[in-house]
Amino acid sequence: MAKFDNALQVFRLLDKSNCRMCGEKTCLAFAGAVFTGRRKLQECPTVSREHLAKYGSAAERAAPPAQDPADDLFEAFSRELAGLDLQQAASRTGGVYNAPLLTVKVLGKDFSVDNHANFYTDIHINHWVTAPFLNYVIKSRGVAPTGEWVPMRELAGGAERYPLFRKRAEEAMQRIADVYPELFDDLVHLFSGKQITSPYDSDISVVLPVFPLVPFLICYWKPDEGMESSLKVFFDRSLDWNLDSETAFTLGAGLAQMFEKLALRHGYVPK
Ligand code: SF4
Repeated sequence: MAKFDNALQVFRLLDKSNCRMCGEKTCLAFAGAVFTGRRKLQECPTVSREHLAKYGSAAERAAPPAQDPADDLFEAFSRELAGLDLQQAASRTGGVYNAPLLTVKVLGKDFSVDNHANFYTDIHINHWVTAPFLNYVIKSRGVAPTGEWVPMRELAGGAERYPLFRKRAEEAMQRIADVYPELFDDLVHLFSGKQITSPYDSDISVVLPVFPLVPFLICYWKPDEGMESSLKVFFDRSLDWNLDSETAFTLGAGLAQMFEKLALRHGYVPK
């Protein structure tokens, strides 16, 4: 197994999206943490199998006992949460306040938080959910969905994020939908999704209530007469007021990972 000579060598293996799904603020910070042995290369979900085969064990061998990564973003949100009026936040977010907890539905399930960023929920707590959740609680302006669906590139700051979003969210979901036909039933039954008549003439369209005021619309076109399948994610126009395109990117990529785990659990292996 190859070893790293410097952090730049690690950095070259990353997709440089700064998506924060590893818990670090930037890919560069992650690369430094891998080089010094604080993190493992395999904790970045985008590193290719080929690179993991070459460097994965070397990174593991170099690692001292695992530590929780410092997450600047999460800490910044936690500090803001400490001074937040959760009762007022409930009315902005479509949540419910029952002292000391604010409860907001995430994918249809109760997700509660107090002013000290302690979470109470029955669903698995993933990093890709907690930071976006806090961002939503702190920043949502309470704008009701408009019913107008727009692609990532039409959100503020979304155009520059779209190429990576296409790869990390839409194409990843598409590969899963191609091999795991029950995916859309799962979205309806497990995550309170709702099938709707497609505004874009897709074969399947499901609205996922990621947060109460932040629905995602997932549209899937099946392969047809030599044409490949396609999958697109749309956002309600109000997203710019209740969240931001960077957080929507994190949520989309996180959902794709969650769908992949679902498919694998059912014995399907995405191509
Ligand atoms: S998870 Fe995202 S931020 Fe972290 S190293 Fe990988 S691509 Fe970069």
